[in-house]
Amino acid sequence: MDCLGLDKYHRPHICQKCGGVMIYKGVGEYHCERCDEVAYDDYGKVRLYVEQHPGATVVEAEAATGVSRKTIRQLLREERLEVAADSRSFLACQACGAPIRSGSFCPQCAQKRQKRMEELAHRSITEGMQGRMISNTAGQEGAKRFTRDK
Ligand SMILES: [Zn+2]
Ligand SMILES: [Zn+2]
Repeated sequence: MDCLGLDKYHRPHICQKCGGVMIYKGVGEYHCERCDEVAYDDYGKVRLYVEQHPGATVVEAEAATGVSRKTIRQLLREERLEVAADSRSFLACQACGAPIRSGSFCPQCAQKRQKRMEELAHRSITEGMQGRMISNTAGQEGAKRFTRDK
């Protein structure tokens, strides 16, 4: 069937189990009128996933539900998803993929990065100092240069 308008969100019409008719129950959920099998359209799948994984990213939702990113974003735009009000939570930390509300890294990774940078800076200072100490053992000038500003 080629009715894109109606099947934009892959609504289940026929029960996968018994072939019965699926009845719409709201919020993207369908129940088979014969065997009570539950099925979801794209909206229902994503809504359910986001409900169970608050702050999940579009990428995670796509991987878990099989619903395309494009459709998820469309649902967000249409504000059929509850996370639509805060779509910024659909950002992911660039290091670990955790959901974040702003920036590029989650607080933990931001802290880790900060620490690593400090360590690197510290190490280069220490190594630089050691280098100078060795090369400056002779001569007053070297000793002066090594004196740290206060
Ligand atoms: Zn059924
Ligand atoms: Zn992170």
